[in-house]
Amino acid sequence: MSLQVQSAVSLKPFNTFGVDVQARLFAEAHSDDDVREALAYSAAHQLPLLVIGGGSNLLLTADIQALVLRMASRGVRVLSDNGQRVIVEAEAGETWHPFVLWSLEQGLSGLENLSLIPGTVGAAPMQNIGAYGVEIKDVFHSLTALDRQTGELREFNLDDCAFAYRDSVFKHQAGRWLILRVRFVLTRAAHLHLEYGPVRQRLTEQGIEQPTAKDVSAAICAIRSEKLPDPAVLGNAGSFFKNPLVSAELGAELKREHPGLVAYPQADGQVKLAAGWLIEQAGWKGFREADAGVHRLQALVLVNYGTASGLQLLGLAQRIQQDIAQRYGVHLEMEPNLY
Ligand code: FAD
Ligand code: NAP
Repeated sequence: MSLQVQSAVSLKPFNTFGVDVQARLFAEAHSDDDVREALAYSAAHQLPLLVIGGGSNLLLTADIQALVLRMASRGVRVLSDNGQRVIVEAEAGETWHPFVLWSLEQGLSGLENLSLIPGTVGAAPMQNIGAYGVEIKDVFHSLTALDRQTGELREFNLDDCAFAYRDSVFKHQAGRWLILRVRFVLTRAAHLHLEYGPVRQRLTEQGIEQPTAKDVSAAICAIRSEKLPDPAVLGNAGSFFKNPLVSAELGAELKREHPGLVAYPQADGQVKLAAGWLIEQAGWKGFREADAGVHRLQALVLVNYGTASGLQLLGLAQRIQQDIAQRYGVHLEMEPNLY
C-alpha cells in the first residue's frame, strides 16, 4: 500500500480561500493505483471520498467528514505531432499554469489565453475553465476518467463532456467521474484571440503589433496580476458568481433603466451580463464585514482577510444574491463548489 492516509488534517493550505476546516482523513494520489486504493479505503471505512486539485474553486463551509484525496499525479507528454497539430496529454495533478507555460515553450499555441488560472489540469474540465474568450472546450481532445460507481475507466471525447459556459457533464454528475488525465489539441501556427477585454490594447501599448502566443500569455498574466488578488496574499476563489445569461427582452429593459450596463449578446439570442458590474453598481465593491469581503478592485471576487469561515463567506454571497435579485430581477449563480 503506497497511499499515506492522515487523520484530522487542516484544509487551510489546500483551499485558496484559506478557510480553516478539517478533513477527517486526507491523502495525496500520485498514481492511478493510489486513486484506486483511496476508493477502496473510503469504501472499507464507509466514508465518502472528496477529490480536490488546487482547491481554487472550493468553498468549504464545515469540517469534511470524508477522505479528502488531493490529486498530485504528474506527467506531461506529446502523443502525436504531424508538424502542425500536436496532441498533448497531462496528468490530473499537474498544475495548470506551468502546463500552459510548458506548451508555449514547445512552440505550441492554444492555451495562452488561459494563462495564470490557478488549479490543476484534472479540475479544468469540471467547469470548462475559460478566460479572455477561450475555454478549454476550444482546445480539448479527450480525457480519461474513472467511473467511481463501477471502477471502470472511460474515455470522454468533446461531445461526451457536454461543455458549456462554466459547465460540463462532470459538474452535473458530481462525485461520479474522477478525471485522471486530459488531452489537448494544440497547434504550431498561432490562431490568436485578442478581441477580449484589454488584451489587444495592452499589446499595442507595449508596441507589439504582431504578437506571438507567448506575448499574449505575458500580457494576460500582467493584466490578471494587476486586477485579481493573489490567493497567497488574500484568500479568494476567483469569480464568485457566473455572469448571468438573460433573455434579450430583460437585457434591453435593464439597458434602458441602466444605460451603463455591461452586456454581451450571445449567438443564441440571450444576453450575458457582467455580474461584476451589477455587484459594483449595487455598492458592494470593497465591502467588508469581519474578515469576509468583496475585493476592492474586482466586485466579482469575494475575499477572506484572514479568519473568515466558509459560512461567513456564504452568508455574504447570499446577501449579494438577494440584493441583485431585488434590484435587477437577475439571479446570480455561485461558481465555486460548496462543501
Ligand atoms: P478544486 O478547487 O480543487 O476542485 C474544483 C472541483 O473539481 C471540485 O468539485 C472537485 O471535487 C473537482 N475536482 C478536482 N479535481 C478533480 C479530478 N481530477 N476529477 C474529478 N473532479 C475533480 N476559473 C476559470 O474558469 N477562469 C478563470 O479565469 C479563473 N480564474 C481564477 C482566478 C483566481 C485568482 C482563482 C482563485 C480562481 C480562478 N478560477 C478561474 C477558478 C479555478 O481556478 C478553476 O475552476 C480551476 O479549474 C479549479 O482547479 P482546482 O484544481 O483548484 O480545483
Ligand atoms: P473583464 O475584462 O472586466 O470583463 C467583464 C466580463 O465581461 C467578463 O467576465 C467577461 O465574461 C465579459 N467580457 C469582456 N469582454 C468580452 C467580450 N469581448 N465578449 C464577451 N464577453 C466579454 O473581466 P475580468 O473579471 O477581468 O476577467 C477577465 C477574464 O478572465 C474573463 O474571461 C473571466 O471570465 C476570466 N476570469 C475568470 C475567473 C473565474 O474565477 N472564473 C476569475 C478571474 C478571471 P466571461 O467571464 O464570460 O469571459
